[in-house]
Amino acid sequence: MLILVISVIAFILICFILNLIDKNKEKLKEKLKIQQQEVMSCPNCSAEYEDLSLKVCKNCNTSLEKKTKCNISKKTKRKLFCVVIGIILIIAVLIISSIFINNYIEEQERIKKYNEDINLCYELIKDKSDWEEFKDIVDNHSQETNFEPEAFEKLYQAIDERIENIKNGNEDKQLLAMLNAIKEDFSSDTTSNTILQKINERYLIVNSYSNINKSNEYIQGQKYKEAFDLLNTVISQNKDKNQEIVNIATNKQNEIKDNAFEQIINEAQTQINNQDYSSAQKTLENYKDLENQTILDMYNSATNEVNRIEAERKAKEAEEERKRKQAEIDAKKDKIIVDTDGKRIYKVYMTSNKFSISGNFKGNGHFSVKLLDDNQDFYDLLVNEIGDYVVNTSTDVVKGNYYYLQIECTRGTWNLSWSGTYGS
Ligand SMILES: [Zn+2]
Repeated sequence: MLILVISVIAFILICFILNLIDKNKEKLKEKLKIQQQEVMSCPNCSAEYEDLSLKVCKNCNTSLEKKTKCNISKKTKRKLFCVVIGIILIIAVLIISSIFINNYIEEQERIKKYNEDINLCYELIKDKSDWEEFKDIVDNHSQETNFEPEAFEKLYQAIDERIENIKNGNEDKQLLAMLNAIKEDFSSDTTSNTILQKINERYLIVNSYSNINKSNEYIQGQKYKEAFDLLNTVISQNKDKNQEIVNIATNKQNEIKDNAFEQIINEAQTQINNQDYSSAQKTLENYKDLENQTILDMYNSATNEVNRIEAERKAKEAEEERKRKQAEIDAKKDKIIVDTDGKRIYKVYMTSNKFSISGNFKGNGHFSVKLLDDNQDFYDLLVNEIGDYVVNTSTDVVKGNYYYLQIECTRGTWNLSWSGTYGS
């Protein structure tokens, strides 16, 4: 922009000088001792002749023309040369200095913007919890390598100042939410491990002081057990990391220890009275190693009850399983399902692909033996005789299926045995 302005000024200046020269031509001529002389000039080869009576060029025979020529002395020529060079130098100096001034102003503006944005980054984190806007600003300065680390220093500073506020007992849910958002953004970005680590450290501190504040609320509401548990979480999370927080939480726990134990014992006692031993066990479990004999005794007796009940349950289950298996076996045994005068039906379970039957019938009546399938539909006729008969036959069956063996007779007795079924 500045270069353009300078160029325009230079142009106007040159025009003005040319105009001045034009207006003061005569004066200049006098001053510079310029003398005019008429000569004959050749339009073809540019040869000049002082002899005004000459009509044609001696070189090329072209018609000559009359021309007025300015004679400038060598001294004047040198002076003019110096003036021109001087003007050119002045213009060059003007252009170069304008470039320098322009760069200087641009750099000043950049520094101003840089500082303003660094401060804005701080304010966004300190007052507005606006992590998204913070990211946008950092992105806008991606060409300046120093900006991002400097902006993050401001971010840590703002967070630390807000942590002080939480330490003083004030709630700051927005800070936790913002730290969560930052954590999420960096969790997949393996190049920013340092940032993630610093944010995680601060997240733990913020969360821990918030929990300490919450446990104070519990204590005020006489919820000592809840307060004790929350402080336990704080201590275990900060162990070997933030000794100051561990100390605060431990001291607070010691203050409410007796009250908390009393509430735990009461709760467990109610559960034991209701014979809910496993709940009592759970209630006491986390406190049994805290050197309170009552809690330890209660825990042990609740555990014994839980184990006894569990053993009983297992024994009952085993007995039920045994019965179920027995029933399964019994179901496969040969079973008489019909036994009327002259007709007997056995339900049988095949343990082989061949069913064999043997024995005899004594009498003068009709004697038949049939096999029915598991739908009680006819499958095979094994015996169909009148009078004494010796049975010895077999048939193909399907192993693992149920069949019905139907024996009928009139006037006589039979004696049979068979193989291929589960038996009795
Ligand atoms: Zn000529």
